[in-house]
Amino acid sequence: MAAEVVVVGFGAAGVATAVTAFELGAEVLILEKAPEGQEGGNTRVAGQGYLNTSSAEKAAAYLKALCGPYPVPDEMIRVWSEEMSLNNDWLAGLGGDPQEHQHQPEGIEFPDLPGADCVHKFHDGPTYGFSNTWKRLESLVKQRPIRVCYETPGRELIQDRTTGEILGVRAAQGGKSIFVKARKAVVLTCGGFENNQEMIRNYLSGVPYCYTSGSPFNEGDGISMALKVGADLWHMNNYAGPSMALKVPEFPTTFGMQALHFSKIVPGGMIVAGPDGRRFTDEKLKTRHGKVASNGTWQALRTPCPMHMVFDQTLMASGPLYDKTPSHGWTQIVERYDWSEDNGAEFSKGWIKTADTIAELARAIRLDPNSLSETVDRWNAQAAAGLDGDFRRTLMLAPFDRGPYYAVELSPSMLNTQGGPQRNEHGQVLQPGGAPIPRLYSAGELGSIYSYLYQGTGNIGECLAFGRVAARNAVAESLWS
Ligand SMILES: Cc1cc2nc3c(=O)[nH]c(=O)nc-3n(C[C@H](O)[C@H](O)[C@H](O)COP(=O)(O)OP(=O)(O)OC[C@H]3O[C@@H](n4cnc5c(N)ncnc54)[C@H](O)[C@@H]3O)c2cc1C
Repeated sequence: MAAEVVVVGFGAAGVATAVTAFELGAEVLILEKAPEGQEGGNTRVAGQGYLNTSSAEKAAAYLKALCGPYPVPDEMIRVWSEEMSLNNDWLAGLGGDPQEHQHQPEGIEFPDLPGADCVHKFHDGPTYGFSNTWKRLESLVKQRPIRVCYETPGRELIQDRTTGEILGVRAAQGGKSIFVKARKAVVLTCGGFENNQEMIRNYLSGVPYCYTSGSPFNEGDGISMALKVGADLWHMNNYAGPSMALKVPEFPTTFGMQALHFSKIVPGGMIVAGPDGRRFTDEKLKTRHGKVASNGTWQALRTPCPMHMVFDQTLMASGPLYDKTPSHGWTQIVERYDWSEDNGAEFSKGWIKTADTIAELARAIRLDPNSLSETVDRWNAQAAAGLDGDFRRTLMLAPFDRGPYYAVELSPSMLNTQGGPQRNEHGQVLQPGGAPIPRLYSAGELGSIYSYLYQGTGNIGECLAFGRVAARNAVAESLWS
């Protein structure tokens, strides 16, 4: 099997790369790990927004400020800010239907930073969510003679030992190795390491484990492949998370709890306790994709594991604990898990524990009964007085009712990682020291530009922008045979 440009991964970055390369006249092949119907990665189940900035100058200032004490090269900032304003033109030029989100300007995540008003969030079609932008992107590939090999994960890059050039990919198909020749270049667009617990332990600080609400197929393969051919890594400790969510063995991805969402108000008493039986945060805090303000900086939300959401009968009886609206998230969009209206099915599965008293509940979830009882008593007193003196929570300030009481174990959850092989302004993957690995490119969240703070819709925006950049430069390579 051979093509001029071989694209590894069929999400937004893979689409932007493949379609741009095809439009420039290249023969393109996409290798995709997931079976047909589950391709699309995080893009498929995202909120579907993408960034289209309004002014390159302001965008450059905003990105620089987002990177804060973790700077990225000026050339990268320049290319990002120029390309990010062209996403709508690109999509519309291919028959898309860019529409601005209605909640502008609330969507600006860091409005106090310079250039923040460059932010304009778009989606394709009448509404965001529901895979709409992804459906459009996918159709751009399907309308063209671009071959997609499903269930064909890239395993290893084939490198010329003398020149260091990347000549193709070894992939797996039907239990066998296949060799795919790339006559011009390989572009890695195979997402992050959201499902690789070893990489999570090594690279993400503060979380001994973490799960995702995105695609279960993103396992850091692009990082392993790039490392083997001498790539440098960057932004490995940055990710869009954590939040706190339920993870059960029966499903690969997380379930968000309504009661913990900053915009959902449900009746009943609820707190989250850490392993010491104590609260550690405002449970209703609106984080900035997992970051919280701390002494003039932004730090990842603390998630002392195991964590438990502890709540009362009023909350249990108020409806499904899980928001099953299928607008975004792998569990909703792909698994389509139908959570029971009265939480009874999930209770029967053991996902929800119960006891008549807080002390008994503590024993059932292996917490210290005295600590948890003290925590709930303290919460009840503060809630009754209308003031959370510990964490300044202002939403759902309700004391616990008489019981029975309930607990759900929570895990750290994320949308996506940002780290991966370092790339330059041409989309080339770099070695330590800055020299490009010949004929190897990347785009998307695999080695994303975001080093510190993240502006929502920036990831898909970057996929489209750097997919085009990588494709243009990959197509400009000479044929090696
Ligand atoms: C619930 C949720 C909501 C989000 N909402 C937004 C939003 O509204 N706006 C925004 O900008 N960002 C959002 N994000 C983040 C954003 O979705 C991702 O960062 C972005 O879509 C990544 O695109 P990508 O093309 O780099 O990777 P992906 O879309 O994840 O695609 C990677 C593809 O590579 C495949 N793959 C993996 N390994 C291999 C391999 N070895 N060989 C071949 N293929 C492989 C995967 O199966 C997948 O199809 C959200 C994320 C989540 C989880």
